[in-house]
Amino acid sequence: MKSAFFEKNGATPIVPIQYTNREGFSTQFWLKRDDLIDPHVSGNKWRKLKFNIKHAITHNYQGVASFGGAFSNHIAALAFAAHKAGLNSVGFIRCDQIDPNNPTLALAKTLGMKLHPLSRGEYRQRHQTDFIANLQAQYPNFCIIPEGGSNELALDGLQELAAEINQQGDFDVVASAVGSGGTIAGLSKHCQQKTLGVAVVKDNALYERLSSEFPSKLQLHDGAMFGGYAKFNLELEQFCVDFFEQTQVVIEPIYTGKLMYALCHQRAQLGFDNDTRILAIHTGGLQGLKGLAYRRQIDLPLWSRAIQSLAL
Ligand SMILES: *Cc1c(COP(=O)(O)O)cnc(C)c1O
Repeated sequence: MKSAFFEKNGATPIVPIQYTNREGFSTQFWLKRDDLIDPHVSGNKWRKLKFNIKHAITHNYQGVASFGGAFSNHIAALAFAAHKAGLNSVGFIRCDQIDPNNPTLALAKTLGMKLHPLSRGEYRQRHQTDFIANLQAQYPNFCIIPEGGSNELALDGLQELAAEINQQGDFDVVASAVGSGGTIAGLSKHCQQKTLGVAVVKDNALYERLSSEFPSKLQLHDGAMFGGYAKFNLELEQFCVDFFEQTQVVIEPIYTGKLMYALCHQRAQLGFDNDTRILAIHTGGLQGLKGLAYRRQIDLPLWSRAIQSLAL
């Protein structure tokens, strides 16, 4: 079966985390290690792509196509998953030109992905029907998946994640970083527990939509955004590295670092005491560190041990 890559046996592990922050305050929570699913199709991208890839195979599409920034975890995951499934792939990339030295795009290209640049103006239309219809006409036998892989088929993969969680333990809250919102929507729909979404992008329309869809289930937190999408400072970098030194778990400053920061530094602000059993999802995304290193956006000596520990 061409979708064999998406048949994993067994649930990803859940590990206890204890972290002592600068003020000497010790936080406990649990971490579901979806980052261990695969180094390329990691975490929530694997969950969200699983049923999209299966759909493309069963409906005899020639390939899959989707949208992302030049260092996107979703684009990296799509290129790899399509390659494994024997499907062609197209990446609509927000950039003026494809930079051949960009590690995410270079790998995607090696995996056979056709890279199609979209200007910022074009990229802004990525949710518009007529714009998508135009791209569909250029790639007629391709299954076009929205940015981040967040669509109805993605929810089925998150239902599987929720089922694993229910079998693995008793938790009060399931927490995830929120980008395009597909992951937290799927968790809020399918988990028995309350959900906590830590926002990593300024998108009030998205948060209003999510809050009205899951009014009594989902708590959204926008206090660990560090200025917006892919923005961070040295404090967050130092936190990520310190978290790695204390727990041996690598996190990055765009998604999981902000989630963990909220849990470790803002727990009271979130309204949880130390007895609340919080399960955080490690949504992966560690390939993104290579892009941050390439752009010299992270302090390389600070990160060297964490990055070396990864099999990237
Ligand atoms: C894409 C991504 C997210 C955001 O998931 P959404 O479903 O888009 O909200 C969170 N964490 C990591 C590591 C990601 O790559």
